[in-house]
Amino acid sequence: MKTYVVLMGAPGAGKGTQAKLLEKSLGLPQVATGDLFRHNLKHETELGKLAKTYMDKGELVPDEVTVAMVRDRLSQADCANGAILDGFPRNTVQADTLEELLEEFNGHINVVPFISVDQDVLIGRLLNRAELEGRADDNEETIRVRMEVYHAQTAPLLDYYREKGLLATVNGEQSVDEVQSDLQALIRSKMD
Ligand code: AMP
Repeated sequence: MKTYVVLMGAPGAGKGTQAKLLEKSLGLPQVATGDLFRHNLKHETELGKLAKTYMDKGELVPDEVTVAMVRDRLSQADCANGAILDGFPRNTVQADTLEELLEEFNGHINVVPFISVDQDVLIGRLLNRAELEGRADDNEETIRVRMEVYHAQTAPLLDYYREKGLLATVNGEQSVDEVQSDLQALIRSKMD
């Protein structure tokens, strides 16, 4: 059976770190839309050039483009058993489309872990990441917009998935290892 996991959490909650660890422990590929856009940017594809104009501002890349990219990625061979979605969906249009997409792939969302971290802790982490990794969109202004976009467009998905009985909150203020072990236990308990 396939296993699809949607990792939710504000920017800086640790979705990327945790998804990479889950990829190793569960053998399910991390599908991170931000990473896919950054890959395209680096290779100067048309998609990358388009995405850059939105990413630099901290805004969402248009749904059509994003969904097409995710469909393409999920249809690749390494996603045959499912995937850990990181950074997608980011709004209700994308969430509705994901359901249709997974039906196409004969799967469904098994669980939506929400990595919960206090807002002040998040901002500190993002500014720290800006210094360590030099990500172009980790400056104060873009971080502010990304937080706004998260609260306005992505946070409503918490209710969306709660109503479907899929949401499970994990304390994201624990150590990386502790968060990881909570996530593994949760996901393993929801695999078909
Ligand atoms: P992330 O690495 O997940 O923080 O994403 C970095 C940037 O990529 C975001 O600020 C958006 O501009 C863009 N992006 C990532 N995922 C999505 C998505 N699902 N929908 C639209 N834009 C996205």
